[in-house]
Amino acid sequence: MLVVAATASFIVTIDGPAGTGKSTVANRLAKRLGLEFLDTGAMYRAAAYEALRLGIDPSDGARVAQLVRDIEIRFDWTTDPPELLVDGVAIGDRIRTPEVTRAVSPVASNPVVRNAMVQSQRKIASLHRRLVTEGRDQGSVVFPDADVRIYLDARPEIRARRRVEQLQAKGIQVSESEVLAQIIERDRLDSSRRDGPLVCPDGADVVDTSDIHIDDVIDRLEEIVRARASAALAESEYGSDGDELNRTARS
Ligand code: C5P
Repeated sequence: MLVVAATASFIVTIDGPAGTGKSTVANRLAKRLGLEFLDTGAMYRAAAYEALRLGIDPSDGARVAQLVRDIEIRFDWTTDPPELLVDGVAIGDRIRTPEVTRAVSPVASNPVVRNAMVQSQRKIASLHRRLVTEGRDQGSVVFPDADVRIYLDARPEIRARRRVEQLQAKGIQVSESEVLAQIIERDRLDSSRRDGPLVCPDGADVVDTSDIHIDDVIDRLEEIVRARASAALAESEYGSDGDELNRTARS
């Protein structure tokens, strides 16, 4: 458990393209460090899911913007991991279907949607102040002053394979070449949009997960977080009390 002063905020951002294992890694890292976990991709997926459910074209900017103004997207923080609710209703894995995955990039490039999500994510962080948050813009736009910024990457072929395995585990059959094509297209759209594009945040630690087992990725990230936390404490006015504030023990 990473022990910081009870009132301190401590934000770790993890950004990167689809299929790098961000969600799993962020969730497990959060547990290991005793922090909470925020999956921001789920919020964009929820907006895309609602658009499809209501027959709204995901590329229809005005209608999608109105939709996001009309619905309430929030998490139930009493569940582990926090469950996403749309207007109070849990929508579970319905946001993970290939249809929603196809619809999400146009929805996420809508400036009104992005603005609403960014405000909501900052509000969440003001209430849940010790957080691992993952997405595309967390370290670059939403929390540029985060205590630790991490960028996860992996070769597209590896990311496609992982996505196929994840979907198969949920009983969804897809072709690997189709998933690879979708991943490449989603990377292109996510990286080229004007607002909150997928970029490696300034000062981020970059970890390529292509050839590393997930357990080792988490060990590596834990090392990074601990090193950054210690360095920040050493620099701060509380440096000499560092042990008091940052006593560490594995949970
Ligand atoms: O991480 P996940 O695959 O669930 O994200 C789904 C989509 O949501 C991404 O492809 C991206 O278009 C969008 N997204 C985003 N900004 C974030 C998180 C996700 O634009 N912070």
